[in-house]
Amino acid sequence: MSAITEQLAKIEESITQQCIVSGRLREEITLIAVSKTKPLYMIQEAYTAGQRHFGENRMQELQKKAESLEYNDIQWHMIGTLQTNKIKFIAAHVHWIHSVFKLKQLNEINKRAAQHNRVINVLIQVNISGEPQKGGCEVSEISSLLKHTRTLEHVLVRGFMGMAKFTDDHSEISNSFEQLRGLQQQHLTHHPELTELSMGMSNDYTLALGKGSTMLRIGSSIFGSRT
Ligand SMILES: *Cc1c(COP(=O)(O)O)cnc(C)c1O
Repeated sequence: MSAITEQLAKIEESITQQCIVSGRLREEITLIAVSKTKPLYMIQEAYTAGQRHFGENRMQELQKKAESLEYNDIQWHMIGTLQTNKIKFIAAHVHWIHSVFKLKQLNEINKRAAQHNRVINVLIQVNISGEPQKGGCEVSEISSLLKHTRTLEHVLVRGFMGMAKFTDDHSEISNSFEQLRGLQQQHLTHHPELTELSMGMSNDYTLALGKGSTMLRIGSSIFGSRT
């Protein structure tokens, strides 16, 4: 068994365990293997082990990898900073964009998706850590972003993404995740399509599962640390 296959199995085991602890169903959780900076052969190994969702944080890297791999059942997730002028590079490939928090990004995604006759799923990234370098909108901006998505035919808003502060303080991490879930609950009444919560990385995904995460973005625990 390859190291990647082994790591995937370990994470699968731990997700299953945490689902039991939190009274959740495994089927409602998507594991995204974050393959940024990693070579194609590692994605191929993970694919062979059954992994189908992959995350990248640079647009040209996502484009290149998507075009290089012959598989047609991979779902690509863009999880990093969105430069509006580069959205054109991923529009033909990406299925989910987790890091949307500006009107002009939404408009550009819509325009480029239309050119490829596609609909792209987006998550609104909310800054739940209070750290400006993490990106995301303020809580007060969510409503107007959601309202705007209603006018866009090639964008489907599906939920929220957030990153907790990088800290050992588990209660602080849990509080951030709880806050994001609270925001989801609040907006669900008017937007029943907001079923997804993208939260949890290698260091905090079990906490995120306990707080209702439906999309885990896990990189180093699967592919090894990045240099
Ligand atoms: C890199 C990255 C991840 C994965 O981080 P790991 O700690 O390697 O699991 C998750 N989310 C985002 C937004 C990232 O940039």
